[in-house]
Parts: sequence; structure tokens; C-alpha cells
Amino acid sequence: GTYGRLGGDVFGMCVPYEDGAAIYHILEGIRAEIRKHFVHYYLETCAGIYLVDDPDMEVAAMHDNAEIAAAQCKGQYMVHDVLYTEEIGQKVLREQHIIDEMDAALAEQQFIVYFQPKYQLKKMAPYGAEALVRWKRAEGTMVSPGEFIPLFEKDGLIVRLDEYVFRKVCSIQGERIRLGKKILPISVNLSRASIHHDNMICRYVKIVEENGIPFSSVPIELTETAALYNDRISKLIEKMVDAGFELHMDDFGSGYSSMTSLNQLPFDTLKLDKSLIDYIENFRGQQVIRHTISLAHSLGMKVLAEGVEKAKQVEILRSLHCDGIQGFYYARPLPWENFETKVIRAKEACKK
Ligand code: C2E
Ligand code: MG
Ligand code: MG
Repeated sequence: GTYGRLGGDVFGMCVPYEDGAAIYHILEGIRAEIRKHFVHYYLETCAGIYLVDDPDMEVAAMHDNAEIAAAQCKGQYMVHDVLYTEEIGQKVLREQHIIDEMDAALAEQQFIVYFQPKYQLKKMAPYGAEALVRWKRAEGTMVSPGEFIPLFEKDGLIVRLDEYVFRKVCSIQGERIRLGKKILPISVNLSRASIHHDNMICRYVKIVEENGIPFSSVPIELTETAALYNDRISKLIEKMVDAGFELHMDDFGSGYSSMTSLNQLPFDTLKLDKSLIDYIENFRGQQVIRHTISLAHSLGMKVLAEGVEKAKQVEILRSLHCDGIQGFYYARPLPWENFETKVIRAKEACKK
């Protein structure tokens, strides 16, 4: 066959094969050769394999398919060889479509913000909401953030989407203030890429000021992974607090929980992830939550439980002195009109 370096850390090989096993044999030979040269450190190689079934296909297209397959190894532990399949090709194409549509979707306002109420456990009353973005495509289908946010995060597009959602929420709050209406704080999610983006803090401060709203009306949620304790992020987070923002630590307990992020970063609220709440009825799960709540309280933080779906969970959370809950048990994320009529007006009616 023939082989060579295609650029960066990508190498290409075109090899004739008798059967699939021959390919793995060739790869093992290459890896053994590489190991001989790198005895002092471990070098991991990934292979994307495309088996040619149409000999008339252009070599560049064959190479693209192999490269698509190789990209699937990224971020997967112990996966070193991926064979290109039609399914992988379709998935990558679908993802690329989503990324390509982003600009037009923003211009046509296809991103819609939903609001999920947060309830205070003591008073059993709504005290705020979280803004959650949805994508309503032109043909009417809804795409959930779980599908497009990871793609936008990879591509840096998330920075624009986060700012779009932040602007929307600030303008809703500003409008209510101008009309003399009461406002409830609405938290907004911010991805790690957004914090790193140049001048993010100045831009967000300007948006708050332009809308004439208090900083406390738009708390910012950072996932714990985003709040990871590297020096640069810690400094940025402190700068955000100095600028006036209230910060909530999102998804606590979902993966990279760290004591450092608790004792070094000035968060106002800790949001317990649904994956912790799911085990609240089990002894060990409950102990973890009990002590996390008491630790957070002793550090002066409020605690909000996410993903609460059952009455029993509410009861336990109340007995553990959790401050707030957010979950399908009380309300799903709602479009603004429903949120305004059902939640804000209901709260105002309670006060009268
Ligand atoms: P998150 O910030 O942790 O938001 C909570 C997610 O849990 C929401 O999913 C919400 O609908 C869901 N949820 C709430 N209560 C329950 C429940 O009782 N049961 C279950 N099964 N789920 C519940 P959603 O809206 O699909 O958002 C997923 C994630 O996407 C969010 O997780 C957040 O990380 C991200 N996201 C959403 N909007 C934005 C945004 O504007 N910017 C950024 N960067 N991320 C966003
Ligand atoms: Mg959140
Ligand atoms: Mg969360």
C-alpha cells in the first residue's frame, strides 16, 4: 500500500486487504514499531478505517471517511480503532447541519427561551426561574439543548448563543421594571467557553446596565466543570462577582465535584444535580446530600435541588433544610407567556 503524513497529527494509509483481520494486524505492526521509538513515554495512536466498497470513489472522499472515523476516538477511553460506518457518516452530517444552521437560526430568532420555576421549600412559593434555551426549527421541530449545546461548545458558537439568551432575559426583566411590575430573578447558563471569551464580563455588565436592571435579577449559572479550579478561571469568576454578578454552581455532584471549587470560589448558590437527587431515598445517597447541604450552609451558600420529580423527594429535601427545588414535580420549563401567567401572577395573587 501507500502511506504518508497528511498534516497535523493525521497520517493516511491506503492498504489492500484480504479480510478485516488483516487491518488490525497491520495496525499492531505499526504500533509495535512506534513503541520501539518512544520507550520513555506512552504515545497513543488512533486509527480511522474506511473499507472501500466502491473502487470508483475519489481517494480524497475515502480519506475523509477514514478521518471522520478517526475523530470518533477522541474523548473515548481505550477506543483506538474505529471503522467507518454509514451510521457514523450520518451522525457527523447531522451534527454539521446543526452547526451550519446556527447563524440563520439566530438571525431568524429560532432560539426560544423557556423558564423553569424555582420554588422555595419553606414557603412553598416560586422565587425565581432558570432560563433554558430551545431551538424551534423553521419547519417546527424542537431540538433540545442536550443535542446542540455540546456541538456549539466544541465550535465556540456557544459564546454567541449564551449572550443571545442573556440579552433576552435582561430585556424581559428591564421591560417588567419599566412597566412597574415585580420581577423574580431569572438565572442564565454560561458555558466555560463564554467565560474565557474576550471581554465577556464588560459585555455582560453593559447589557445589564443598558436594561436598567439589578445584577441580582440575572444570576449566572456555571457548571461545576466550568468552575474548575484553575487560576485563570478563578480570577475571572472573582472578577464577575466584583462586577456585581451573583453566581450559582450548577450540576454539583454530576462529575467533577471538588472541595476546592467550594472553598475557593465565591458562589452564592449550590445546585445539587439530579443524579444526586435520584438516590435521595437510599441511605447513602441521603447522607451525601445531608452533609453537602450542611457544608454549603456553613459556607454561607444556599442550596437548590434540581430534577425533583417526586413528593417523597420534596419531603426529604425539606427535612434536610434544602432551600429551594426545581423539577418536574412542580413545573417543567415553560414558554414566557405561561410562566408569566401561571407563576408570576399566581405569586402576586398570593401576596394580596
Ligand atoms: P441545566 O442547566 O442543569 O438545566 C436543568 C436541566 O434539567 C434542563 O434540561 C431541565 O429541563 C431539566 N430538568 C429540570 N427538572 C427536571 C426533572 O424533574 N426531571 C428531568 N428529567 N429533567 C429535569 P434542558 O432544558 O434540556 O437543558 C439541558 C442543559 O443544557 C442545561 O442543564 C444546561 O446545562 C444546558 N443549557 C440550557 N440552556 C442553555 C444556555 O442558554 N446556555 C448554555 N451554555 N447551556 C444551556
Ligand atoms: Mg443550569
Ligand atoms: Mg443543572
